[in-house]
Amino acid sequence: MPDKSYALDVWSNNNFIVENGLLKLNFKSMPSLYEIVKDIRNEGIKGPLLLRFPHLIKKQIEALYHNFQNAIEINNYKGGFKAVFPLKVNQFPEVVKAVTKAGKRYNYGLEAGSKAELILAMSQANKDSDITVNGFKDEEMITLGFIASSMGHNITLTVEGLGELKTIIDVAKKTNLKTPNIGIRVRLHSVGSGAWAKSGGMDAKFGLSSTEILEAISLLNEARLLDNLTMIHFHIGSQMSDIAPIKRALREAGNIYAELKMLGADSLKNINIGGGLAVEYEQHQSQKSHNYTLEEFSSSVVFLLADIMDTKGVEHPTIFTESGRFVVASHAVLIAPVLELFSQDYQERHLKLKEKNPPLIEELKELYDYMNQKNCIEYLHDALDHIESLLTLFDLGYIDLQDRSNAEILVHNIIKKALYLKRGQTTTELMQLQSHLQERYLINASIFQSLPDYWGLGQHFPIMPIHHLDVEPLRPASIWDITCDSDGEIAFNHQKPLYLHDINVEEEDYFLGFFNVGAYQETLGMNHNLFSYPNQFTVEISDESYKITDHKDSKNILQILSDIGYETKTILDKLKKDLKNSTFIDEKEKNATLSLLEKYLNQNGYLRTTN
Ligand SMILES: *Cc1c(COP(=O)(O)O)cnc(C)c1O
Repeated sequence: MPDKSYALDVWSNNNFIVENGLLKLNFKSMPSLYEIVKDIRNEGIKGPLLLRFPHLIKKQIEALYHNFQNAIEINNYKGGFKAVFPLKVNQFPEVVKAVTKAGKRYNYGLEAGSKAELILAMSQANKDSDITVNGFKDEEMITLGFIASSMGHNITLTVEGLGELKTIIDVAKKTNLKTPNIGIRVRLHSVGSGAWAKSGGMDAKFGLSSTEILEAISLLNEARLLDNLTMIHFHIGSQMSDIAPIKRALREAGNIYAELKMLGADSLKNINIGGGLAVEYEQHQSQKSHNYTLEEFSSSVVFLLADIMDTKGVEHPTIFTESGRFVVASHAVLIAPVLELFSQDYQERHLKLKEKNPPLIEELKELYDYMNQKNCIEYLHDALDHIESLLTLFDLGYIDLQDRSNAEILVHNIIKKALYLKRGQTTTELMQLQSHLQERYLINASIFQSLPDYWGLGQHFPIMPIHHLDVEPLRPASIWDITCDSDGEIAFNHQKPLYLHDINVEEEDYFLGFFNVGAYQETLGMNHNLFSYPNQFTVEISDESYKITDHKDSKNILQILSDIGYETKTILDKLKKDLKNSTFIDEKEKNATLSLLEKYLNQNGYLRTTN
């Protein structure tokens, strides 16, 4: 059913509100997204925009710490709470800057899963914050960990297998560098939930089995490195929809922790529960993608750990989390201009009735004019009958193309009107008609570049126009991007219907916002059709107004070609030579054409129509 609020209450976490038909940031001076977009576009920037709001990152970090600190207080828990941001979720400088800035007062640290991310962590982490390193590591990466430790970082290398542990022991023997803290990733028999539940379980890609953990303890003991073992780690998967599996995992990992303490692992003090806190991506009340709040999550974790440790007589450990999606998903909004509506042909303004029309068309016109709440289904059925007859008349040569066009426009508008009059009372028939009447909204953006998880995993992202929100949206919408790939489409889906407005984009703007796109989408995004990332803006909102504190241009066409290995000079030379040798235009024209060409090559590849 069309919904003017686009279920903001389900997914937006009060980050946005609708006022006077505009979607506004629910923060300080409350600017509308539309005014921000207009301001940016007035500077001559076209195409899709990625807007970042650092205050939303700060809000999430604060929520994380406050909820855990509260739970610790309420449960009289003796251990502390620490957190790190997993860089793989978003490594872009503007994001890492916002994360470390907002996290400074909490000593919020960084998690790295590759050499490049480790270097990033070493160069960006706040002083005294923690760095954790997960994922497979070779001797070089382990040595980087030793270097970080020698530089004074609180760094923990989590071993994913015994081989890695042996390499750590080797490096410790070989070098005079300071040995980092060591964590052990445990392989749990309890499994995760949700589409990403590949990280937990007995056949998981990562982690040590109980036998291997015991072996690890004896290896560490022999090498006199048991004092460096400070952490037990697990991560059951991203976007956990249900709280039950994390509780099972926690019971298991908590017991492993307590057992190891009892076996003499005296330096063990942290239990790292990984990431996985879910973000609400659903746009319909009945289909929420997770069943818990952060408050419930944090109090369950704290309560359970206290319970396990108290039972075994072990001190309460410090709780570590590595939730990333939860921290940054909401901060970024993709704004895509709508370039075209594909069923505009059926708009009433195209109707060109003649002085004298075939009787059936006159009747259609009457049906349309006199339709009301009471008679609309009957009139609709009459209209559907008439169109069948009219199409037959056309095939037999009795009416002309203009008549046919008029008939099609009238019937489409009759169906539209019936759907409008009967909104909220869907029948199978109306639903079927509705799918035929879908409007296709062509957006100036690439789904492959900006919403790769929609393409790869069918992940739904909240979508809504950022203006016109005082008007009920009535058009069932499917969204097409400008790649020439038929997968670049978000089709209309009866389970998750999206309704948009009937807009004449030649006369006015229409911008769609795609929300919660701040986690994973950016580095997963691909340059399909050679579309680069959109222009990006960091927007800081104050009590009086807002300002743009960072702007990163989308890549221009020459940069994109250079990225995939072309010599841009060779390309330019070739174009120049061909132009010079052209016999189709005169010399004067050649110079102007060359500057035009150079201008195009230095712009990004998104469409640059006026709206
Ligand atoms: C990916 C990952 C995370 C982050 O998961 P989110 O679902 O984004 O919270 C945390 N820890 C590890 C080990 C990971 O691999």
